[in-house]
Amino acid sequence: MTKLAQRSLNDPVTELKGVANALSEKLARLGISRIQDLLFHLPYRYIDRTRLTPMGSLLAGHDAYVQGEIELSQIKYGRRRSLLCQISDGTGSLLLRFFYFSKQQQQSMQQGRLLRCYGQVRRGPSSLEMVHPEYRMIHADHVEGLEEQLTAVYPATEGLQQNRLRKLIDQALYALQSDASDLNELLPDNILNDQQLPTLRDALEYVHRPPPDANTELLLENRHPAQLRLAYEELLAHQLSLQELRKELRKEQSPRFAQSETLTPAFLKQLPFQLTNAQQRASATIAKDMNNSMAMLRLVQGDVGSGKTVVAALASLQAIEASYQVAIMSPTELLAEQHFANFKNWFEPLNIQVHFLTGKLKKSERTATLEKLEMEQPLVVIGTHALFQESVNFNKLGLVIIDEQHRFGVHQRLALMEKGRHRNEYPHQLIMTATPIPRTLTMTAYADLDHTIIDELPPNRQAVNTSVISNQRRDEIIERIENVCQQQRQVYWVCTLIEESENLQCETATDTYNTLSERLDSVTTGLIHGRMKNEEKETIMRRFKQGEIDLLVATTVIEVGVDVPNASLMIIENAERLGLSQLHQLRGRVGRGNIQSDCILMYQSPLGDLAKQRLEALRNSNDGFYIAEKDLALRGPGEVLGTRQAGIPELRVANLLRDAHLLPDIQDIAKIMLKDYPEQVELLIRRWLGNSMDYSNV
Ligand code: ADP
Ligand code: MG
Repeated sequence: MTKLAQRSLNDPVTELKGVANALSEKLARLGISRIQDLLFHLPYRYIDRTRLTPMGSLLAGHDAYVQGEIELSQIKYGRRRSLLCQISDGTGSLLLRFFYFSKQQQQSMQQGRLLRCYGQVRRGPSSLEMVHPEYRMIHADHVEGLEEQLTAVYPATEGLQQNRLRKLIDQALYALQSDASDLNELLPDNILNDQQLPTLRDALEYVHRPPPDANTELLLENRHPAQLRLAYEELLAHQLSLQELRKELRKEQSPRFAQSETLTPAFLKQLPFQLTNAQQRASATIAKDMNNSMAMLRLVQGDVGSGKTVVAALASLQAIEASYQVAIMSPTELLAEQHFANFKNWFEPLNIQVHFLTGKLKKSERTATLEKLEMEQPLVVIGTHALFQESVNFNKLGLVIIDEQHRFGVHQRLALMEKGRHRNEYPHQLIMTATPIPRTLTMTAYADLDHTIIDELPPNRQAVNTSVISNQRRDEIIERIENVCQQQRQVYWVCTLIEESENLQCETATDTYNTLSERLDSVTTGLIHGRMKNEEKETIMRRFKQGEIDLLVATTVIEVGVDVPNASLMIIENAERLGLSQLHQLRGRVGRGNIQSDCILMYQSPLGDLAKQRLEALRNSNDGFYIAEKDLALRGPGEVLGTRQAGIPELRVANLLRDAHLLPDIQDIAKIMLKDYPEQVELLIRRWLGNSMDYSNV
């Protein structure tokens, strides 16, 4: 044991007792290779066997430790054979349900015997129950005591049991206790004192092995100071890595564009409307950013319909006037096509070349466009991800604009920058998102960017009227379509499905299309979905835009950016299946002109409480920022921003929702640390992010 105490925490886990190759491979799957990694393999929950819950106060959805006398035990033959055991403790009763059980198990559960069990309580068909709880028979004459402390439960992996992990972590904790332990406290004393946080060592010991007098409630809710301290350090490490990255990026040179004196005035003159104040402000900020040799990295957030495209166009003009190329990237083909049409409309009268590049171009067209990008400038090219494939070489890319993109992480942003590098110059970057991002997420996922918010809609916009209606009233809704179309207005009908499968989505949309076109004689109906050929989609969209199609049945492909101002009714089927931000996006397809528009959220009844709340939130508000906050609270950050790639860090202890209030402080502290404690910064980043933030080779 003395030898163990002298272990360096940096030693490989194989130095621990009983860790051979097979085990170290399993540990590696959990990201554990050094002894220290075990210490940072933190419990994700605790089992509380320190007290028994009276059955009368059990709550569905919660874990509980209970003890009771068996009242009845029997095998039930139904769709599935199961062993049912009813226990009670005088305050209430509980049903235990086992689908797998041995004869011996069944026999031991005799009426009158005492049983103690631990598990999650759920609402069963007739009463509260536990399915496959951990249980033990108890002898009435020597009832065992309860446990003295909470038991930590760790993220595990196949073939590696909790008990085994616990023992290994015990060894690591033992090594930690020795004075020779080289686990450094990386937070400066004054910060720990200011924030009243325990030391790292105390915090780790506490969360792994809470003492008997621990505040159980706080621990179970992940709000204990020891947990907070770790969350704090983790969030700080992420913040530091982003701020450091930001500092690095700002060191890069970008071309400096003077204010556009010719093209911008000409463009504004031909524009059929005046810019809103918010558009002017955003454009002025962007213009200033680009008139600087430091790379612009700016995120523009604006609610649907706030007019971000014009802002993008103005930014482009400044680069064009300086004889540079501009690349505009959209997340979907459909949007790219729409932007292409817009920009051609706006820019060709100004004699600016506008090109198009997506994965679905014909080979000859593609080759021609690629040649242009390699040879000519200035120009604007609009496309999808295809813009940044290997075969694409820009001659002199000065500005990259990413539109409607909330699914873009740090890595992709950096890859884009690298792609546009020209000698030692990097293009400026403008990122536009129509899904307002909750503040907490901007502070974490987008801390490397500067931010601008377009907080004003063009004048004469009327708020969309939203109603929540059961699909049992489908007939009424269909009648409404007829009315709207008679008034020369247009309608969207969006079909949704839970299944990811695009095929199924398209099938459903096709069925709906068939039914609706049969029912609605006087209405010209169109169908658009993801499996259609590009040209087909384009034709349908063009016809809808030109008013030749009255009712457009669609899958969620039309979600972002599609702009048909004459459309005034949006119907979304099975709205309860979509996220709030996505629904808000879809709703934003109407109310784009100056006509009063409506959105009908159809749901499959019966509607659960939570679902009802969500749809209500949407009915009551047209404010994308408010809705984004709600969405975050209801679904969590991963869902709101998309996938892991969205740049939301994978957090081990911290939780963006719960710990959001820490973020402003952490941002400040990160700045102090970068300035005053640069040696600690590297170590902190490495401790929590390992090498995952190594951007040198993107
Ligand atoms: P989003 O911010 O959702 O991308 P768009 O750029 O597509 O919004 O603009 C939505 C609609 O508003 C377009 O039809 C656009 O021409 C129009 N628009 C943009 N700015 C203004 C403005 N200042 N005044 C009136 N209409 C505007
Ligand atoms: Mg847009």
